[in-house]
Amino acid sequence: MGLTIDLAALAANWRALAARAPGARPGAVVKADAYGLGAAQVAPALHAAGARDFFVAQAAEGRAIRPLLPGDARIFVLSGHMPGEGLDGLIPVLNSAPQFFRDRALRPRGDFAIQLDTGMNRLGLEPAEWAAIRAEALAAPTSAGRGPSLVMSHLACADEPGHPANAAQLRAFRAMTEGVSAPLSLSATGGVLLGRDYHFCVTRPGIGLYGGEPFADARPVVTLSLDVIQARWVDPGETVGYGCAWTAPRRSRIATLSAGYADGLLRALGGKPVMLWAAGAAAPMVGRVSMDLITVDVTDLPELPDEMEIINAAQGVDALAALAGTIGYEILTALGPRYRRDYLPG
Ligand SMILES: *Cc1c(COP(=O)(O)O)cnc(C)c1O
Repeated sequence: MGLTIDLAALAANWRALAARAPGARPGAVVKADAYGLGAAQVAPALHAAGARDFFVAQAAEGRAIRPLLPGDARIFVLSGHMPGEGLDGLIPVLNSAPQFFRDRALRPRGDFAIQLDTGMNRLGLEPAEWAAIRAEALAAPTSAGRGPSLVMSHLACADEPGHPANAAQLRAFRAMTEGVSAPLSLSATGGVLLGRDYHFCVTRPGIGLYGGEPFADARPVVTLSLDVIQARWVDPGETVGYGCAWTAPRRSRIATLSAGYADGLLRALGGKPVMLWAAGAAAPMVGRVSMDLITVDVTDLPELPDEMEIINAAQGVDALAALAGTIGYEILTALGPRYRRDYLPG
C-alpha cells in the first residue's frame, strides 16, 4: 500500500518534453518535494536522465537536495535571496532590486539569476526597476565570470494556448531582454507546448514530468493504493460515515480504507463519483471523506481485496482533481507524508 512512483515514466516525460523544445536545455522543477513525490529520489533520477538545471521554491528545498546531486547540477531558488537564508551551492533567482543589492552585498562573487516580471505581477523586476539595475546586474562578478546565469520570466496563462497574455508576455520578455547575452528562460510545461518562440535557452517543466496536464501525452507516474482495514454489511436504509451522508439503497458491503483528507484525498471528493480499483474491477467511494479514512461500496466485487487503487491509469491525477474541483498540481502536492513511497527504478 502507498504511493508507487515510476521513475522510468518520470524520465520518459522529461525526455519527451525535452524533445518538444529541441533547441533548449531542459531543466526540471522539483519544488514542493518534487510535487509531493519525493525530491530526494526524483531529482537524482532526473539528473541521471540528463537534467542539469533544477528549480526549487525555497532555499531549504535546495539545501536538502544539494548533497544528493553531483557538482554539475545547478539548483535555482525561485524565491531568490531571502534574509538569513544559506545559499551555498545554490543560485538565487533575484526578483527585485532589494534582493539584487542584498545578494551582491552578501555574496559579491556568487552566481545568481534574474527574474523579470512580464505581466504576471507575482515575482520579478518591473521594467523600470530592471532598467535601473540592468547594467550593474549584467556586469556583476560571479564565480566564473560576469552577469546572471539565467534571465527568466514566467507565463500566467501558458495552459491556455489561445490566451492573449501569452503573446503579450512573450513580447514583453523580448523587449526587456534585448541585447542581453545571458541565457534566457520563459517556459514551464505549458510554455514548452506553446512552440518554439517560447523556448529560449532553458525550459522549466514541472507538472508534465509528474504526468499532469497540460502535457496530455505524459506517461502516468503515480499509483496510489490504500489498505482495506475492515469491511461490513449494511442493510438498506443504513447510513455510512459522517453526517450520515450516504444511505444504502440495498444490502451493501462497505470497506473502510486507510487514507483521508489528511493524506490529500480532498474532502471535496465526498459525494463525487470517485472509483477504487482492485484486480481490474472498480467500486465507488461512498459517503464523506474523513481525516484518515474513506468508505467504498464493494458489494459487487467478487471478493474483498487487501488494498485498492485510487490513483492509477484509469483514474489519473487530473481525473481525481476534476472531481474535487481543483487541478492535478494540488492533488500531487497535497499527498501527505503518511504514505509509504516506493520507487520503480528509472
Ligand atoms: C512552478 C514553476 C514552474 C513549473 O511549472 P509547471 O506548470 O509545473 O511546469 C516553472 N517556473 C516557475 C517560475 C514556477 O514557479
